Amino acid sequence: MNFYNQNIDDIIAQFNANTKSGLDEKAIQLARNKYGTNVLKASRSRNVLKMLFVQFASPLVLILIVASLVSFFLGEERDGVILLMIVVLNALIGFYQEWKAENILASLKTLVANKCIVIREGSTIEIFADDLVPGDLVKLSEGDGIPADIRLIDSKDFSTNEFILTGESLPSNKDYLFSTDKTLTIADIKNCIFMGTTVARGEAMGIVYATGIQTEIGKISTSSQKIKIADAPIQIEIADVAKKLTVVTLIIAAFLFGIRLLLHDSLVLALVFSISVAAAMVPEGLPAQISMSLALAVGRLAKRKAIVKKMASAQTLGSATVIASDKTGTITKNEMTITGCYFNGESFSVSGLGYEPLGNILNEEGKILNKESLGDLKIFFLSGFLSSTGKISPPDKYHSSWYCIGDPTEASFATLTMKAGYTLEEIEKDYPYVKAFRFDSFRKRATIIRKHNDKIISIVKGSIESVLEASTKIITNGKIDELTADNKKQIFSMATVFSQNALRVIAIAFKDLELKNDYSIDEVEQDLTFAGFVTMFDPPNEGVKEAIESVFKAHMKVFMITGDNEITAKAIAKNIGLMNEGNEFPTVINSTALQTMSDDDLKTVFQKRALLFSRVSPDDKLRIVDLLMRLGEIVAVTGDGVNDTLSLKRADIGVAMGKNGSKVAQEAANMILLDDNFATIVIAVKEGRIIFRNFEKTIKANLACNMAELTCVLFGFVGSFLGVATPILAVQILLIDLVGELLPLTMLTYDPPEKNIMQTPPRNPKEKILTKNAMRGIFFSGIVMGIAAYGAFLYSFFINTTGIGNYEKAITITFVSIIFGQFVNILSRRTDENVLGRYLLSNRNLLLSFVFSIICIMLIVYLPLLNLYFHTSPLQIMDWILPISAGAVCLFLFEIKKSIKRRVNLNSII
Ligand code: ADP
Ligand code: MG
Repeated sequence: MNFYNQNIDDIIAQFNANTKSGLDEKAIQLARNKYGTNVLKASRSRNVLKMLFVQFASPLVLILIVASLVSFFLGEERDGVILLMIVVLNALIGFYQEWKAENILASLKTLVANKCIVIREGSTIEIFADDLVPGDLVKLSEGDGIPADIRLIDSKDFSTNEFILTGESLPSNKDYLFSTDKTLTIADIKNCIFMGTTVARGEAMGIVYATGIQTEIGKISTSSQKIKIADAPIQIEIADVAKKLTVVTLIIAAFLFGIRLLLHDSLVLALVFSISVAAAMVPEGLPAQISMSLALAVGRLAKRKAIVKKMASAQTLGSATVIASDKTGTITKNEMTITGCYFNGESFSVSGLGYEPLGNILNEEGKILNKESLGDLKIFFLSGFLSSTGKISPPDKYHSSWYCIGDPTEASFATLTMKAGYTLEEIEKDYPYVKAFRFDSFRKRATIIRKHNDKIISIVKGSIESVLEASTKIITNGKIDELTADNKKQIFSMATVFSQNALRVIAIAFKDLELKNDYSIDEVEQDLTFAGFVTMFDPPNEGVKEAIESVFKAHMKVFMITGDNEITAKAIAKNIGLMNEGNEFPTVINSTALQTMSDDDLKTVFQKRALLFSRVSPDDKLRIVDLLMRLGEIVAVTGDGVNDTLSLKRADIGVAMGKNGSKVAQEAANMILLDDNFATIVIAVKEGRIIFRNFEKTIKANLACNMAELTCVLFGFVGSFLGVATPILAVQILLIDLVGELLPLTMLTYDPPEKNIMQTPPRNPKEKILTKNAMRGIFFSGIVMGIAAYGAFLYSFFINTTGIGNYEKAITITFVSIIFGQFVNILSRRTDENVLGRYLLSNRNLLLSFVFSIICIMLIVYLPLLNLYFHTSPLQIMDWILPISAGAVCLFLFEIKKSIKRRVNLNSII
């Protein structure tokens, strides 16, 4: 029988569960031993053979395989073997890189810890979802991820997103009372919820009946967050370039082949040229290299607490132009402490920080009030707690200090009420819960209806505007009066004073209700009696101020989007330096103003580097994001709730919080901040810029070197008619890519940034790396390197006294010259400044890779066996002057070109 066919009592009996106090430590241990931990095995469904096969499927590799077969056929076994070995080695390296990239991405999934709320041994605590066992009693609310397969034992207006299991995109309703004796498909099971899905709405409790691989999702063994491998724009561009180059290669190769045959040359000679062209021109290693470097960058971002879910986002980040950020929980910590209140026309303050219920209530003079003589004030605090759902919990094995369960704003009332001397369990018993209308960012208030003795009361809390709007009466010293316009004004002006000090204000009101079966939100949230308000302190996150400063330096904008009011928003903006040029306060646009503004009006205010939006709803936020995107900005937007998913998906980079964010938001986002800190977004943007800049260097350096090889081949072709031998062989061209390029270019993707990386405007993301200008640069460098190497070859071939006629020695010199040219090409590309400046030694790994390459060159030049296979020959000391001079000539020309460019740029600025 299936779990959804059984009734709740059977399931409880089966797992020794308890619907009140949950499991105890012993039962948990037993269950853990029996069922294991609640983890899905990483799905190793990838096809290794296919991954390997793909490496051989490129046209170049096929050409080379054919060439090697031809070599065997013509009796040149040595050439055949070497070609084959190079092909295999290249493919293996490519395979390794793709493999590693995938591993890095797969490991990220586990970094975002899944937490859930359970009741164990009578207390409500938050644990890691991995520790969940069958029989556990779990509480769920809107936005949560569902941590295991669970049979509901209670639910209110509850629905879940089950797309991942059923493909259904609309939320499916759930009801703990549902029962059936039929066999159903997952989509029709209403009394169970499944691991990997999320809560779309409502609240529920349930008993876990399956964990880990026993769950539905475990059975089909996919896991919820698939990270995509190959879709960064840069990868697409490179794949595209490689394809085009292959076509051009085939044309040139066919052309050379044709001419040679027409001239009645030997087939071998014709083949030598065509294959050399192919080897020189196709950047065969580049695609795999790019995906590995992207993955490494994604790994580095993860170390800095930013989890990027798609490689594309790592690249997009670098060109972000606007960061549209929430206030609470991104710019601030979302650790709410109630610091005071306004009640009965007086204000009070509350001492203590955080959720620990230790502190005193003080009056305006700063005198500690006796807990027994708080009078009406105590009842005011009580009503605050009665309108909240949050809980606090003492330190446990998962938390080092008191922590909140649920929304921090809600939980802070639990701390306050305990500071006032209440025991929460007693309150819950005296005021049983009847119904709740949860907080949402549209209404900006929340209501809980409770029973007390024979009376039904509803208590509402929310932003000062939204609560006053629903209030018609006020209670002062136990007496209920009409709430006049004057009262409202006075309450507002008191609230303003607190808001100016960057405090959040939450107002409380109540209403007596008749005993009924059900209540509608409209009747409950109107005609309220206003009681007072509390003030909450939410400290800014570490490093936010510096982060904002660097965002402005990087010519980017920051828009703060908050549901809070204008005054708090402004106060926070001032604290964190979110100001326009010249310390001018940013304009504040509230929801009402926003709705009356046309798109054109908004476009004008969007010019500013700082803007504040207050009292916004999720719809307003979506409009802001949408408009920014239509203006061509690259937008990073943060979001936390279920209602933010549209904005998160619409933006170029949706950012969700890893600690306090909802699972729903995390799934909609492209990036998750493990530390919930605005400053981390800025770190990620910087990393994005570095990634891009380094790719630029790598790709250009790679193509320039290929160009150099091609230049030599073409000179060789022309020279062959004049009786000059070929300056370089296909095998050596492939060898250059392998020993002279692979490692140095990989190290280039780790290059430390130039100092000004965060002081230049964001790059236009539509702009490709290989613009016309870039192509000209590549041609220039390539031809310079090619001519230098060919010059060295000619010198050695004709003039070098020790080597006249020594063909093998001359081609060895071409080979080494190109590699030396490539070394200086790499070094020179690393900075726009003078190569001999402070960047010269800043990348130790690059220098080490040069050393490694040089050792390989030495072996190739001096080991007789390698001489035989690679057609090289030992060089005398004096011979080294040639390749070294070739490198020096290249360096000299590259640097001259850079200094001209610097001067032109400078002139164009002046
Ligand atoms: P933000 O995240 O930008 O601070 P929110 O949309 O979360 O904005 O909140 C907007 C306003 O709604 C807050 O300023 C506060 O007055 C009120 N509010 C926030 N959370 C709650 C809650 N749980 N219950 C009642 N009111 C709340
Ligand atoms: Mg919020």
